[in-house]
Amino acid sequence: MDIKKNIDSFLNYLKGTNCQLVAVSKTKPPELIMQAYNMGIKVFGENKVQELAEKHELLPKDIEWHMIGHLQRNKVKYIAPFVSLIHGVDSLRLLQEINKQGIKNNRKIDCLLQIHIAEEETKFGLSESELLELIESPTFKALENIRILGLMGMATNSNNDKKVRGEFKYLKSLFDKIGKDYASDKVIMQELSMGMSGDYKMAVEEGSTLIRVGSAIFGARNYTNN
Ligand SMILES: *Cc1c(COP(=O)(O)O)cnc(C)c1O
Repeated sequence: MDIKKNIDSFLNYLKGTNCQLVAVSKTKPPELIMQAYNMGIKVFGENKVQELAEKHELLPKDIEWHMIGHLQRNKVKYIAPFVSLIHGVDSLRLLQEINKQGIKNNRKIDCLLQIHIAEEETKFGLSESELLELIESPTFKALENIRILGLMGMATNSNNDKKVRGEFKYLKSLFDKIGKDYASDKVIMQELSMGMSGDYKMAVEEGSTLIRVGSAIFGARNYTNN
């Protein structure tokens, strides 16, 4: 795997767009992350709390770490001191815990709300009505140590481009609607996290601001449950 070549081509592709690369380094060793870091990549995504905390400890402190996977409430405390953005928030209870840890660490923690856009039932995320219910709730409005910086979604794992593009279009329309009707100091529709190795081009065309790319940069992962 020629990481340098892959990163060059991603950075080149994203030049002139409004979209930024989150290099998904899960399962990959620190030496590989350092190769990307030395090429100027400063934003990395991980999906396991322990791995994220260990890599944060070990690697340069100017790296921005994004938590992209499903986050359990009892593990928020391990990443709360340093995490830059939590992509996969899909419940008020989780947000309450993130807020609590934000207070403990004397910081505001930035989050994206994950929306269910794929047809697969196994994927996490809120429906549109659940999203509206969450951001309209008094409990949410009282949380002072979190900010919602945007939305995140995962399209159906399919080579039906029309379907995948339709899911991205839907997420973008929801993002625009929330930005228009619900913007506040806590709801700031700035980041739209959509697109992975297999579908990032469509995601960028449909308005993604953060693509989460792992295997197209670092090569295939060794196990398949990621
Ligand atoms: C692993 C992962 C990615 C990256 O997947 P690739 O297909 O390797 O680019 C993106 N988003 C999430 C939530 C992931 O868990």
